[in-house]
Amino acid sequence: NIPTIYLITPTHTRLEQKAELTRLSYTLRHVKNLHWIVIEDCDKKTNLVTNFLANCGVTYTHLYAETPAQVKLKSNDPNWLKPRGVLQRNAGITWLRKNLNPESDKGVVYFADDDNTYDLDLFEEMRYTKKVSVWPVGLVGALRYESPIVQDGKALFSNTVPRGYQESTILKKMSLTLEDLEPKANNCKKILVWHTRTEKTKTKNEDKMKKKIGSGSDPNMEV
Ligand code: UDP
Ligand code: MN
Repeated sequence: NIPTIYLITPTHTRLEQKAELTRLSYTLRHVKNLHWIVIEDCDKKTNLVTNFLANCGVTYTHLYAETPAQVKLKSNDPNWLKPRGVLQRNAGITWLRKNLNPESDKGVVYFADDDNTYDLDLFEEMRYTKKVSVWPVGLVGALRYESPIVQDGKALFSNTVPRGYQESTILKKMSLTLEDLEPKANNCKKILVWHTRTEKTKTKNEDKMKKKIGSGSDPNMEV
């Protein structure tokens, strides 16, 4: 009876969405006792995600929560302008608080974006977390990697990065001491997760084709 991993993934509609979800689900298929909570940034569940999840091979819960227009990223905005996935992660947390019994449902919560890359070892590292586990992340913060600084067996967060306080803020609300942070991934000496980002696909030839032969590729084809 191993602890369950509750994996919270915000996801939003864009051309690359199904490819990202497919790749992530193929990783998650290899993880035992995992419950995937997928929250769409939408005012309703989409057919694409509904159909995808039905065949994804992973135990899941499908939710939605729309980011309000004032804080929603527009397609040409630089990514850092607005926080991303916040309401969706909150919907996931709220679902867990409503549906789990802290006495009988033992497990850990992990927030996994749909476009990042996860080593399977990471899930076994986090599975037996007592309070909060920490580990390095590759390809993030305009650095090769970011990592807690581990000294004398005590973990410290480095807060020198101006943007990106999401994680620090939620941790502060949990009244933890430094001793509660459990360094994983070989005492933070190993990268087991990468903040990979997919290039936005160009579709300029759709317009070219429209002008030349009257139509682009079939808009009814699910990509
Ligand atoms: N996301 C979302 N709504 C948005 C933009 C992003 O739900 O308007 C999700 C996205 O699918 C991903 C997470 O939030 O799972 C983080 O977004 P992104 O990868 O764009 O940000 P990054 O952290 O890479 O800058
Ligand atoms: Mn990302």
